[in-house]
Amino acid sequence: MRVAEGVTLVSPTLDAERARRIIKETNPFSTGQHLAYPSNHDGPQVHLEAYFSTEAIVQLPEFASWLVEDVVLWMTTKNLRPQVIFAPGTDPVRLFVEKLSRAVDAKPVYLETKPSGRFGDAIEGSLPADASVLTFNLTSVTGGRCIGFRLPDAAAKNGGHVIGTAAIALGTSPLNEELRRRFPDNLYIAFHVAVTNHNPDACPANAIGLRPWQEASAEIIARLER
Ligand SMILES: [Zn+2]
Repeated sequence: MRVAEGVTLVSPTLDAERARRIIKETNPFSTGQHLAYPSNHDGPQVHLEAYFSTEAIVQLPEFASWLVEDVVLWMTTKNLRPQVIFAPGTDPVRLFVEKLSRAVDAKPVYLETKPSGRFGDAIEGSLPADASVLTFNLTSVTGGRCIGFRLPDAAAKNGGHVIGTAAIALGTSPLNEELRRRFPDNLYIAFHVAVTNHNPDACPANAIGLRPWQEASAEIIARLER
């Protein structure tokens, strides 16, 4: 169900009126962008043509609670009882994962995430041997690369057993199909968002100047604080 331009509600259990309020009041979607993601060149990079700031949404405790409630409802319906929630260690993600972990009596474990947005290898907190793990991110802008592959692979490498994956917002990419194949019945998404990307070598001729993705995110959050 379309709740705003470029934003589709895909969780069947998230109340449509709540979804509309979240998007209307935080205005997290920004089009006409040309953003480097991650912001440095230390590995594969894509350019985003829009940005969706779930970071802005979780600044509002009421909206964060509605979304936590919905993820918990999904976990209950699917009978998923992870011992660990495994997520990138950024401040906005922690804000959400602390609430989610408490609600389902799981332990948060974080993967090192650099200021550029790139994942490192270090783990904060320990994964008990063969722990059942739900991987989570607020936004998977490149269509599931983080929640479908990078986070589950890092959790498995550290001895975890991934039983499901979740994001509040999922961007548009050919990877979406692969994500759904890998997690056919254990994938949670609240919103599908029209955040598209291209490879750096496929920049449109008329592309506007490239900016780090953090600038767009900060602009959306600043708009919220006015
Ligand atoms: Zn470009």
